[in-house]
Amino acid sequence: MKAQPTLITEKKPLLGLLPEELTEYCREIGEPRYRAQQIFRRLYAADAEVRVAEFAAMSELPRALREKLTETAQLRALELVRLQESTDGTKKFLFRLVDGREIETVLIPSEIVEENGEPKRLTICVSTQVGCPLNCQFCATASLKLKRNLTTGEILDQFLTAQQYSTKPITNLVFMGMGEPMLNYDNVMKAVQIFTHESAQLLGPRRITLSTSGLVEGIKRMADENSPIKLALSLHATTDGLRTELMPINKKYNLQMLGNALEYYYRKTGSPITFEYILFEGVNDSDEDARRLQRITRRFPSKVNVIPFHPIDFTNPEGIAKSLKPTSDAQFQSFIHRLRELDVTVMIRSSSGKDIHAACGQLALAKE
Ligand code: SAH
Repeated sequence: MKAQPTLITEKKPLLGLLPEELTEYCREIGEPRYRAQQIFRRLYAADAEVRVAEFAAMSELPRALREKLTETAQLRALELVRLQESTDGTKKFLFRLVDGREIETVLIPSEIVEENGEPKRLTICVSTQVGCPLNCQFCATASLKLKRNLTTGEILDQFLTAQQYSTKPITNLVFMGMGEPMLNYDNVMKAVQIFTHESAQLLGPRRITLSTSGLVEGIKRMADENSPIKLALSLHATTDGLRTELMPINKKYNLQMLGNALEYYYRKTGSPITFEYILFEGVNDSDEDARRLQRITRRFPSKVNVIPFHPIDFTNPEGIAKSLKPTSDAQFQSFIHRLRELDVTVMIRSSSGKDIHAACGQLALAKE
């Protein structure tokens, strides 16, 4: 692949524009409507041959236009700084943004393989903010605080660039990287609109999952807009006392409010909900927790993704964060068994990419 041209702030970013916006842009620079279609096809192509690195390579455009675009418009939103690969095949990308800030993106092959030995799914874990303001005690990204929201183009480009480094098509996308997607709602949903756009066809809506720490307004908005993507809620505790300690956002939106918002969402969309539940030894892994978890999740069709805690010692945590430990394998299995006895649908989230700090909650731009 060709080296990517350096990003320049003054240029007009084209990534993130919808077809109608690209048409408007072409009108402004005196170009006909069909040019917008040609550019759109190049901008959002998963295929490396079609998705060129420079306007100069868009051979179907007249030379003068290619030169004009090179002078005034930005083709890419990200520059790849580093790519690390885990022993399990997980890849972690470090990207630099136009303002010099950095984010991480993770590409995870599923453990389940097809007959030809290829992974069944290839999931991209996309960041939505530089850092995060929410201060969840177990999450490494919290140590960065919030720097800013990502633009729609920066969200899309994580997928597009990662795709260029993979021979297999990316099949699924989760908004579970750095940041709280509900706090960047408009840019995230516009990215979804483009990912799923009939002229781009990068992903189907049911292959996209938004994970939230529980921002009630966002959940209700997704319900009211009848959003076609899937919703996951980071629960992690079954009592308000513990949840507030682990996730300060629980002070604003407690378990009762969350349960009501999720029920509202289910009634409006008919879409089941995934609960994410990290197991911390001796903190939230008891039989009583399993019973309370069942009561919380049975109000509507749902499943629970149980996640092993990935330690974040490299961020030098303080307070309760310092004392959090992963549940032992035996207790992990027994907790899952207990939930299944209670008729809860349970999935176990793998810890892909732990050796390169690419597992859930480990994204923190640590200079390794
Ligand atoms: N802000 C969103 C999305 C980012 S977090 C949210 O809170 O859902 C993506 C998932 O990783 C969440 O379920 C989160 O709780 C989990 N996670 C965070 N830190 C983790 C850690 N140290 N170990 C395991 N999972 C973690």
